[in-house]
Amino acid sequence: MIIEEDAHIVNSLAINAKCKIQLTLESESDLEELKYYFSEHNNKYYIVGEGTNLVLPEYFDGIIIKTKFKNIIEDNANKLLKVGAGYNWNELVKYCLSKSIYGFENLVDIPGSVGAAPIQNIGAYGSEVSSLIESIDCYCLKNFRKVNLKNSECNFIYRNSSLKNSDYLIYNINFITNKEKIISTNYETITKFIKKNSIIINNPIDLSNVISKIRSQALPDPKLINNVGSFFKNPIVEFNSINFNIHSKEKLILWNHDNSKVKVGAARLIELIKGDLSLHKNVSLYNKHCLVLVTNGKASQEDILNFASEIQELVLTTFNINLEIEPNIIY
Ligand SMILES: Cc1cc2nc3c(=O)[nH]c(=O)nc-3n(C[C@H](O)[C@H](O)[C@H](O)COP(=O)(O)OP(=O)(O)OC[C@H]3O[C@@H](n4cnc5c(N)ncnc54)[C@H](O)[C@@H]3O)c2cc1C
Repeated sequence: MIIEEDAHIVNSLAINAKCKIQLTLESESDLEELKYYFSEHNNKYYIVGEGTNLVLPEYFDGIIIKTKFKNIIEDNANKLLKVGAGYNWNELVKYCLSKSIYGFENLVDIPGSVGAAPIQNIGAYGSEVSSLIESIDCYCLKNFRKVNLKNSECNFIYRNSSLKNSDYLIYNINFITNKEKIISTNYETITKFIKKNSIIINNPIDLSNVISKIRSQALPDPKLINNVGSFFKNPIVEFNSINFNIHSKEKLILWNHDNSKVKVGAARLIELIKGDLSLHKNVSLYNKHCLVLVTNGKASQEDILNFASEIQELVLTTFNINLEIEPNIIY
């Protein structure tokens, strides 16, 4: 285990964040040692992956826990792939593409680690990671015991799961490798792109290449531009509760959700109100995608949350829609 005091916490918003103590677990046996640190530091802790979905404070007065487990084991008998939490998500997608394991292709180029993927049930272009998970090996930080959670125990829904804000440290994920050999190209952005560019998709690699191109045109690379991807979730609301007095229904992006509810494209809502936003010094909207907030590397958590609140207030007064923040705010 690597133990660092007053350590910098890596994060893709480039917030200058430090913590009292950072523990980097290098092997499974390090899990057993965690309890000794907990009693010394009042049990305040936060688990961090690659830091691409965090809005951190300048100082975290507790323990930051990271895992470096990068094992990848194919269990052909049970048609499973056991992957360590510290493995990079996109490297896993590439691994699966190279082995003709279907189902990962729509989730190409999502930044971050394998261990974080189930937390908000990462999803993109019509797929969610929950459809690929058999079970998750966790270490409970309350009773310091290992537990294997089956997919059905994780309560996966759109951008959420019961693992979020739980006491479970994920150290392995068991992925299914026998998904039906069908590629999913139904998502509207994909169909439009394929048609416009006269592309024929024959296999998961072709599809992942198309999605990579679409993503690179809309989303900033966090290694070059400080961001956490979408800052707000697409809200799911009663259709009748939306205020169309200022902007007509046709201007919004609406997907049917159930009988009376619709999922609303949050990027379009922000696009329609962005002219009324005040100028903030260290944080702004990404010029190619209104759902992404970018910083100049000098922004604090407060700067970012102030800007986000202004957006939320304007969207609420204009459309009567509450925008929920997607990344994790740590206090
Ligand atoms: C440019 C960009 C594009 C993005 N696109 C998408 C997208 O298309 N779809 C999507 O869903 N997300 C997207 N995201 C968000 C981000 O990629 C995911 O949330 C990702 O899973 C975060 O991984 P991470 O390792 O950086 O986690 P972190 O940001 O470090 O942590 C995220 C959460 O996971 C928890 N966590 C991390 N590791 C563990 C562990 N081992 N055990 C228990 N809890 C853990 C943390 O406590 C925290 O709650 C995007 C982000 C960026 C910057």
